[in-house]
Amino acid sequence: MKLLKEKIVQHGKVLSENVLKVDTFLNHQIDPVLMQAIGEEFASRYKDAGITKIVTIESSGIAPSMFAGLTLGVSVVFARKRKSLTLSDNLYTAQVHSFTKNETNDISVSKDFIGSEDVVLIIDDFLANGQAVLGLLDIVEQANATTAGVGIVIEKGFQTGGELIRARGIRVDSLANIKSLANGKVEFFEEDST
Ligand code: 5GP
Repeated sequence: MKLLKEKIVQHGKVLSENVLKVDTFLNHQIDPVLMQAIGEEFASRYKDAGITKIVTIESSGIAPSMFAGLTLGVSVVFARKRKSLTLSDNLYTAQVHSFTKNETNDISVSKDFIGSEDVVLIIDDFLANGQAVLGLLDIVEQANATTAGVGIVIEKGFQTGGELIRARGIRVDSLANIKSLANGKVEFFEEDST
């Protein structure tokens, strides 16, 4: 997605060979115009997939998911990273290991909000080693719902997550796919023309 790639080049900060900081438009300050375009792009790619629900993870997956949900006319459910006092035991739970933070956390979704009748589009901000998406897939499976695909804003294609998820036969749509962050420079795979 051209607009997104331009934003990454203009505002992204390469923190290391593995980590890209995009706090100016996605992870802290949020650019609503860009989020709307991203949400509409996901919605257009999945418009014929019979999506009934979008499932994401707090907090940075929520903004693009909202616009996709608005366009597709479906609700957005975000997995919580910490147990909320108002969430009961009625939960689907999965473990997610973060390589960047080197910690494992539980994520959870109330059983009230995903059911066997649902066709789910999973959305997240980054795809790195795939652990967050695997956790969300686990929750969708526990609910006996169907996963139509995974929409990712920024995939780091040089890490293992994309391969891991696609090897399971799951459709993954990333709107920017980074080939390398070497030498402080963002280099993209060039396969996508949106
Ligand atoms: P994974 O579970 O695929 O290894 O990592 C995905 C999660 O880690 C994303 O939800 C995102 O929050 C975080 N993450 C991974 N790599 C990056 C990165 O380069 N930059 C930022 N800002 N977040 C990242």
